[in-house]
Amino acid sequence: MSKAEELSKRLSYERKCFWKEASKKEQKSAFDFAKNYKNFLDSCKTERETIDFYAELLGKKGFAEIDGSIKSKKIFRIARAKNAAIAIIGKKPISEGVNLIVSHVDAPRVDLKQNPLYEDGPTKLGMMRTHYYGGVKKYQWMSTPLALHGVIVKNDGEIVKVNIGEDDNDPVFVMPDLLPHLARKEQYTKKIGEAVDAGKMNLVFNSIPFSNDKKTKEAVKLNALNLLHEKYGIIEENFLSAELELVPAGKARDAGLDKSLVLGYGQDDRICAYTSSEAIFDANKNLEKTAIVYLADKEEIGSDGNTGAKSIFILDFISDLLRYNGENGDSTTLRRTLLKSQIISADVNAGINPNFPNVHEAENAVHIGFGVSVTKYTGSGGKSGSNDANAEFNSKIIRIFNQEKVNWQIGALGKVDEGGGGTIAKFMAEYGAEVIDCGPGVLGMHALYELTSKADIYSCYKAYKAFFEKV
Ligand code: MN
Ligand code: MN
Repeated sequence: MSKAEELSKRLSYERKCFWKEASKKEQKSAFDFAKNYKNFLDSCKTERETIDFYAELLGKKGFAEIDGSIKSKKIFRIARAKNAAIAIIGKKPISEGVNLIVSHVDAPRVDLKQNPLYEDGPTKLGMMRTHYYGGVKKYQWMSTPLALHGVIVKNDGEIVKVNIGEDDNDPVFVMPDLLPHLARKEQYTKKIGEAVDAGKMNLVFNSIPFSNDKKTKEAVKLNALNLLHEKYGIIEENFLSAELELVPAGKARDAGLDKSLVLGYGQDDRICAYTSSEAIFDANKNLEKTAIVYLADKEEIGSDGNTGAKSIFILDFISDLLRYNGENGDSTTLRRTLLKSQIISADVNAGINPNFPNVHEAENAVHIGFGVSVTKYTGSGGKSGSNDANAEFNSKIIRIFNQEKVNWQIGALGKVDEGGGGTIAKFMAEYGAEVIDCGPGVLGMHALYELTSKADIYSCYKAYKAFFEKV
């Protein structure tokens, strides 16, 4: 190696490709990790299903409910079937600050409207009206198989869980798009974002009438109600309070000839929910600081609502955790605990898309397969709406990742003034804690099928584990 080469290697920052750097053993670990991750994606397609999954798993992993009678270092709380906090109490007092990783378990989708069911006049098809949730490109959701997930509360208060379209024997649903032959005026003259009007996102639900009796009005709609009543014991009124979500039907898949990538729905942000949970499960048993995983809801619509990250849920949990540990749980102690805490806002970032490289600035963007992204700031325009992590904390994170041989890179969302977006980071920063964004890159974020690298999924897990153990 020449002097210049040696100097360049020592002084220059260069992001590193996981597949070039990692040992064969490490590469196998990444593949093995992704196998379980894909299973997780298949069984957790909605926020409720994700929280249900953890409610069941946590008991098996030896975690005790914070409100229960069993004393344990490993505790959790589930709230409103859409939130979870998972904690391991460390050796130091909790009031000296916690290490918290927060991700979100909701994903862009298409909900059924409150009063969804109708029979279309001319076609006599049974239809469902929808209302999209989060930042979706509406045209992507047309003419693609959809599964219906969610809950319906019956008049006697019983909760019915719905899941139609995932089993091979299940039917699927579709919102039919317009054929290209007749799209000239209706769609091709419009801007892409307006080509599919939200009012046209109606789902074909059924087509056989209840009877041939000519006197029966809306016999196809009646047949739908009858089938639903037979299967679930519900009546039309129960739709008004139900939470029913349409998601892409089918399983997560390996992608790429070398199977190095994962294609699946809802990886934003269940990829971080999974990697942070696995990190706390696998973290060494003698943590110095208390570790907490927080799974939040409603991020895709601004973190509002009583299950969103802006709610007091996590503050209340930490306050109870202080008391549980025999410490003072009053508001002053809670505030000071938060001020001394360190938080990773665990969310995905946009990887450079080879089809649209112009929206990224390559030297500052995330490269797929080059490890987990450490993102100092998000936001838009002049860093508006951004947390912008402090240099001291950002540097500390990088030092730990280097020390623990985590494959990491820097990553901003896109070119300045190209657009922008935010994460939960800024809401967590309101507590006065140190906060930084950290998560894997994704191609086709918010599309029905998002593409990630097994290298980055695994690196993300290692990064979160290092955060709990070493920071
Ligand atoms: Mn996200
Ligand atoms: Mn998102």
